[in-house]
Formats: sequence, structure tokens, C-alpha cells
Amino acid sequence: MKGRKLLMIPGPIEFEPEVLRVLGAQTTSHVALNFITAFGNCIRNMRKVWQSNDGQPFIVSGSGTLAMDMAASNLIENGDNALVISTGYFGKRYKDILERYGANVTILEALPGNTVTIEKIEEALKNKTYKLLTFTHVDTSTGVFVNPKPIAGLAKKYNVLSILDGVCSVAGEEIKQEEWGLDIVLTASQKAIGVPPGLALLVVSLKAMTVWEQRKTLVSNYYCDWQNWLPVMKAYEEGKPSYFGTPPVNLIFALEKSLEIIVTEGIEERVKRHQNIAAAFRKAITSLGLKLLPINNSIAANTLSAIYYPEDVNGGDFCTKMAANDIIVAGGLLPELKTTYFRVGHMGSVSTKDMIATLSAIESVLNTTSFKFKLGDGLKTFQQEVSSVH
Ligand SMILES: *Cc1c(COP(=O)(O)O)cnc(C)c1O
Repeated sequence: MKGRKLLMIPGPIEFEPEVLRVLGAQTTSHVALNFITAFGNCIRNMRKVWQSNDGQPFIVSGSGTLAMDMAASNLIENGDNALVISTGYFGKRYKDILERYGANVTILEALPGNTVTIEKIEEALKNKTYKLLTFTHVDTSTGVFVNPKPIAGLAKKYNVLSILDGVCSVAGEEIKQEEWGLDIVLTASQKAIGVPPGLALLVVSLKAMTVWEQRKTLVSNYYCDWQNWLPVMKAYEEGKPSYFGTPPVNLIFALEKSLEIIVTEGIEERVKRHQNIAAAFRKAITSLGLKLLPINNSIAANTLSAIYYPEDVNGGDFCTKMAANDIIVAGGLLPELKTTYFRVGHMGSVSTKDMIATLSAIESVLNTTSFKFKLGDGLKTFQQEVSSVH
């Protein structure tokens, strides 16, 4: 197709045609039986994708930031202590959100491309009593991956609620919410979940719901208050009509379709596909002589990669030239390094063919610069790597 571009940014991503087709259908009533059924299916399949049998899902109009806001506004009361473990841009955003609701925030910040050590986190938890901690599974600004399991374990040990910002990881990276003991895992529709922007999605543990029930003060954010949304989620799950704010009807049908695709692929298979594609892509990038932002592969995300430009390559030009090759990639996001790197999203419906097209464009663009590399090396490495895992 002439002029067709491939959207390879860390959200929004390329969506499955079946998901997009559902979006274009005639809008039904939000209390029609077929809509109620679709909503209930979304709730049930979210539990499967999050791997939480007894968690309470919430599906609300909004972006990932609203999901973060909803978790904070429902759990924080004025003066509560909160610990933010930050691996980049979105960690800092969580600090701002929590403070808006009156939390005293302690932030542990990793150096760009690195994580905060588990020892540092434990030291912080020993020194002060916190109501909750937040951390980012995949920080989209750095491509850094954090293993949630040990942090969730520490949170349990110190009786602190754990909130995982999984906006760039849910349905792409391994998550076992219940087994690992994560209290909230939140995301947005436009990333690995594979639905156009517009939905904030959370699954909340029974423990976190109890903490919310025992609040002494009203939730100060009217729209986010679970008091308003919990009856709606429960009713839809039971197949009954309900209303608080009009749900985004077509997006819910699209979510139903996308979750069905995810569950049919199988969450384990899907995670494996992300891991294989990401590992092969990192190898290919390294074989070209490029450097990744995460300091080593064990903390590199499988849903996106952050890659430094070669020293003499102009960053602004690079993304424009990629777009001229019909591949849309993202520039840097971390303020202190913004102009020194670019980001490639590889999540959701991503295929090896998408990655080959992307690598080919990266090589073509680099070939127009003074950067020295062997044309074809990245593509060759990628194809060898992916064929060795299939
Ligand atoms: C994208 C993203 C967000 C913000 O989501 P929006 O939908 O843009 O509001 C938050 N955290 C992480 C890790 C993200 O990748």
C-alpha cells in the first residue's frame, strides 16, 4: 500500500485489523445486553492477563496517567508516606501525582539506564513506615525493565501496598499479580494491550480494596473515586446494567476483541514472543555498533528499546529520515538525555517482519551518515537470532 507507515513507537502501536473493525461498528447503548456481556468478558479476561483470580478490575475512560491517578487518589490520604522507586520519566510523574493528594513522598532514583538496587529499597523500607510504594515495570523513557517479584516480596514483608505501573508492560512482559503479591497493576489500552488510546485499566487486590474501604476521609478526586466505579464494575460482571459515567462503548468492544486475541495466543506464548523479538533486536542493534540505554541486557525491556545515536548523527534528522522510510520511531524522552537516543516500540501485534522492516530502515538511514558499519549486519544478525528460537 503506497504511503503506508509502520508505527513503531512505544504506544500507540499497530493494532490488529479485527480490533479496528470492531471500533467502526455502530455504537450501541451502554446498557444494552450485548454491551453488558462485552464489558463482563473484558473484566474476566483482564483477570487472566494480569494473572489475578480475586483482584478487582477497573475499566475507565482515560489514559495511563488516569490509571496512575486513580490508584493514588483512592489509596492516599493527606500525610501518608509513599515510596517511589524511579527508573525514569514515569517514576517522577508518580511522585507528582502522589504529592497532589497530600502524600509525603520519598523517591529513590536510578541513574539513567540503571535500576535501584533491592538493598537500597529494603533500607528505605526499614527506615520509615510507608503506606504504599510505586515502581515502573518498564520505564518507557529509558527502556529499563524492573523485575517486580522481589520488590513485591519486600512490600509484603514490610506491609506496604505495592503499585506497579505496567503501562508499558501488561500483556507484553511476564506478570503474575496474585502469585507475586502486587496490590495494583495498572495500564492503558494503547500499549501492549493493543487497543487505541482511551482506556485506563487497573486490577486491584482485595487487600488494597480493604485499605480503601477503611479510609477516614473522602477521596478528593470525584471522577476517580472507586465508590462511583465499583458498583458499575460489579454490575457489568454480573450481567446487569449500570451507570456512573458513559463508558466508551466502542473502545470496550475493541478491548473485548483484543483481550480475546491475547488469551487465545496464550499469555505465556505472548510473553515469549516479546522476549524473542526483543533479544534478537538488541543483538542486531549491537552488531551494528550501536549502544542501548539500559546498562545491560538483564534490565532491558522486551516491549521497547532505547538506543543511543552514534555520536556524529543528528537525532532530529534521524527520526525524520526514518519516517521518510515509512517507519515511525520515537525520539528520546528523558530530559537530560533527550537528544542523544531514540526509541523503538516492539509490543502487542509486533512481528519479526515488522522488526526486519524497522532494522532495514535504521540501516538505510545510518548509511546516509558518516557512521561506519557494515550494511546488512543488523538484518543478518536479527534473522539468525529469530530463526534460532523458532
Ligand atoms: C505511556 C506510559 C504512561 C502514561 O500513559 P498515558 O496513556 O500516556 O497517560 C505511564 N507509565 C508508563 C510506564 C508508560 O509507558
